[in-house]
Amino acid sequence: MEIAIIAHDGKKAEMIQFLMDFKALIISKKIDLVATGTTGKNAEKAGFKVTKFLSGPYGGDAQIAARVAEGKTNMVFFFRDPLNSHPHDPDIAMLMRLCDVHDVPLATNPATAECLIKSI
Ligand code: PGA
Repeated sequence: MEIAIIAHDGKKAEMIQFLMDFKALIISKKIDLVATGTTGKNAEKAGFKVTKFLSGPYGGDAQIAARVAEGKTNMVFFFRDPLNSHPHDPDIAMLMRLCDVHDVPLATNPATAECLIKSI
């Protein structure tokens, strides 16, 4: 089971808190975490093993979108900041579209991510 984690800057603290809340489950279910660059670095600092891709604005969301298309990523937790605009909005839209194309569960906020992770 591979889960991709991505958090915009305004949501990174919430992502780390979410991971800490479910650390035992992530370890016991042997979940492989993959992440955009900065989100991944923050998760590593919090003690998680993470495969990191490029930072989001430099193509990290597109790399994760490709993994979704290839069937490698089983779930995406993408904590978006709805109060700010982002230069890589087209990449974000592509990632969300590919989750829908390939029927991959996508959580864009912690409450939904909690429902998904508890379903594993
Ligand atoms: P980041 O990218 O984890 O490298 O900050 C996230 C994003 O903005 O898509």
